[in-house]
Amino acid sequence: MTFNLKNIQKPIIIAGPCSAETEEQVFEIAKQLGKIGSVNMLRAGIWKPRTRPGNFEGIGEKGLKWLVDAGKAHNLKTTTEVANVKHVEQALKADIDVLWIGARTTVNPFSVQEIADALKGVDIPVMIKNPINPDLQLWVGAIERIAEAGITDISAIHRGFSSYEKTKFRNEPKWGIPIELMRLFPDLPIICDPSHIGGTRELIESLSQKALDMNMSGVMIETHTTPDDAWSDAKQQITPSRLSDIIDGLIVRQKDSSNPDFLSKLDSLRTQIDDADAKILELIADRFKIINEIGNYKKENNTTILQPDRWFDILKSRQEMGKELNLNPEFVDRLLKIVHKESVSIQTKIMNK
Ligand code: PEP
Ligand code: MN
Repeated sequence: MTFNLKNIQKPIIIAGPCSAETEEQVFEIAKQLGKIGSVNMLRAGIWKPRTRPGNFEGIGEKGLKWLVDAGKAHNLKTTTEVANVKHVEQALKADIDVLWIGARTTVNPFSVQEIADALKGVDIPVMIKNPINPDLQLWVGAIERIAEAGITDISAIHRGFSSYEKTKFRNEPKWGIPIELMRLFPDLPIICDPSHIGGTRELIESLSQKALDMNMSGVMIETHTTPDDAWSDAKQQITPSRLSDIIDGLIVRQKDSSNPDFLSKLDSLRTQIDDADAKILELIADRFKIINEIGNYKKENNTTILQPDRWFDILKSRQEMGKELNLNPEFVDRLLKIVHKESVSIQTKIMNK
């Protein structure tokens, strides 16, 4: 039977350096990762897509042999990134077990299609990273192109999305996007890459746990014997011993339980949620009815839609109510703004009628 990623027991653990640097480095990391016992796959970038020129752009084809030989020596499957047809051909020739398509490639349907065409008739698992921009359709499109080429063992990798604003993440996780992907493709395994989401070592552990709690199938974690000396992504790489501690600390929860007590209690709680949601929607509908009435009234009296003092009062008084009710102030703020935006839009339509 050919190797199939879907047969690996969850959580799948993929680890290894951002980049293959030297033969010695690849063998040493494979040895240390093999010792952990629960690492399934060795990763290393052979061709590195760098945002600016002048940085280390990958060791190139000769690194493939290091990766494959080190994997074989330490009982680890191997994976690397392919970004064009030449990469695919060289990786297949070298006997790499699994290919992945990087975030900078998923954004480009021309490149994805070229890779898909090069994979026609090939039986190999392919992992597809999300595009760097938060566009679910591009991710879906890449998955479809690879599936249409006849690849059956496809997984997705969630590596976060770049944003102009500085946040604590290198790439914002925007968990809603992979969750939507899960809804569209219930059988597609999604692996989280906390290294590229976090960008710093400190965030790897909590992001990994969060990924498992979101029912993802595993993690891909950049690991280096001497992270500070890494030739790329030094700040986010961790040592094998730190990786081992993180794996030991991960809590793997079941997606479902067949325990009848659990199921009946869950059922009753979910009925209460259904009721609460119905009430929320009915109240929102009531609010918008009043908004309509006010819109007509403002039009008759020729006043502006937005009356800033009233809006600031609403924000302030609702924040106080939220506080009494123990609601997260940021959530209350976002909720009020979204409701207000819709209210203004309803009244704008009335004004322009
Ligand atoms: C990587 O995994 O090293 C990499 C380049 O990732 P991404 O495509 O997510 O930026
Ligand atoms: Mn990297």
